[in-house]
Amino acid sequence: MPTAIAVLNAGSSSVKFSVFVDAGAELRLRVRGQIEGLFTAPHFVAKSADGTLLAKQDWDSGTKLGHDGALDHLIGFLRQQQGSMTLAGVGHRVVHGGMEYSKPVRVDAKVLAALDKYVPLAPLHQPHNLAPIRRLLERSPDLPQVACFDTAFHRSNADLVQMFGLPYAMFEEGVRRYGFHGLSYEYIASVLPRYSARAAGGRTIVLHLGNGASMCALDKGFSVASTMGFTAVDGLMMGTRTGNLDPGVVLYLMDQRGMDVRAIERLLYSESGLFGVSGISSDMRALLQSPEPRAKLAIDLYCYRIRRELGSLVAALGGVDALVFTAGVGENSAVIRARVLDDAAWLGIERDTAANEAGGPLLTTTASRVAAYAVPTNEELMIATHTRDAIRAA
Ligand code: ADP
Repeated sequence: MPTAIAVLNAGSSSVKFSVFVDAGAELRLRVRGQIEGLFTAPHFVAKSADGTLLAKQDWDSGTKLGHDGALDHLIGFLRQQQGSMTLAGVGHRVVHGGMEYSKPVRVDAKVLAALDKYVPLAPLHQPHNLAPIRRLLERSPDLPQVACFDTAFHRSNADLVQMFGLPYAMFEEGVRRYGFHGLSYEYIASVLPRYSARAAGGRTIVLHLGNGASMCALDKGFSVASTMGFTAVDGLMMGTRTGNLDPGVVLYLMDQRGMDVRAIERLLYSESGLFGVSGISSDMRALLQSPEPRAKLAIDLYCYRIRRELGSLVAALGGVDALVFTAGVGENSAVIRARVLDDAAWLGIERDTAANEAGGPLLTTTASRVAAYAVPTNEELMIATHTRDAIRAA
């Protein structure tokens, strides 16, 4: 019977999961699904890799299933699947690995306690990421669990890159730029050799443009800088997050408007970005279809912020050999890619109109001095791979 790795990505109101079977040279997706609406109207769905519905369930509106309830349901579902595969371990997406973790780690009670220390660094994500780990440790203590961090890939950044102009003691305490979306960047770096030896071995900037958005400068496949910082609200403007913001604005809001931490957090994380500027939606597809001037303005600002941050990362790398677009917008929107590529014409980028509209992978002409690609990311596969490797190494 094949062995399988389950991957969990637990957020504030949903738990996404996938199951990969170990097919020797590769891990093959077998099942994926999610339980969403954990505290409102829970809804569970599981599908096979080809999209066939395997199971679904709805709970009454108002049911508070919570993370533990969701995990118990998932365990039940996975047990039913056990007839066709043996679960070798579970990999978890964990947003913060702090200064300590530069690679995935097998989790026991001691490691879990260490990861709890990072809750204040990512209060909106870390507690939810850790909830299923805790529950599984209680319920199935012998099942290997591996935590894979969004920050780990950026631990290769030089101290200078991580530093703010704050008193040095704060840097030592951990107030520094961590960077996020590391599992996506690591996956892209791992598949780049399939697309281009120059991109894999040179200076490449990856644009992860999803609901959350950031960019990462890779040198020979290693992260040297990125746009997100101490938290995942820094850098590019996103679906509902501000991106880079003068800290003086926060002081002003506290001082003049009497806003407290929670109100400012809501503003910066949930009420800003494409949604806040447009007043219409955080969804790029909806904005691209909207005739409203503010939808256009939000898209203009989104692209302008990419243009500015791209220049900054090119400067950090001292030049650039390739660009890579990934995640929802980067993989699917020829319109946004075209705008970003044309804004970057100063780098010697020449867009290939037909190739971009066809989705690439190569998006630029043969004459282009810098090549650009669209490459699908796969954070779940990255987590499954790390989990399998960590279990094998044990
Ligand atoms: P998440 O960060 O939640 O994983 P995704 O990577 O799925 O999000 O990206 C979601 C974003 O991608 C949404 O803004 C969505 O509108 C956008 N998107 C998906 N497909 C397209 C498309 N064809 N054109 C423009 N935007 C798209």
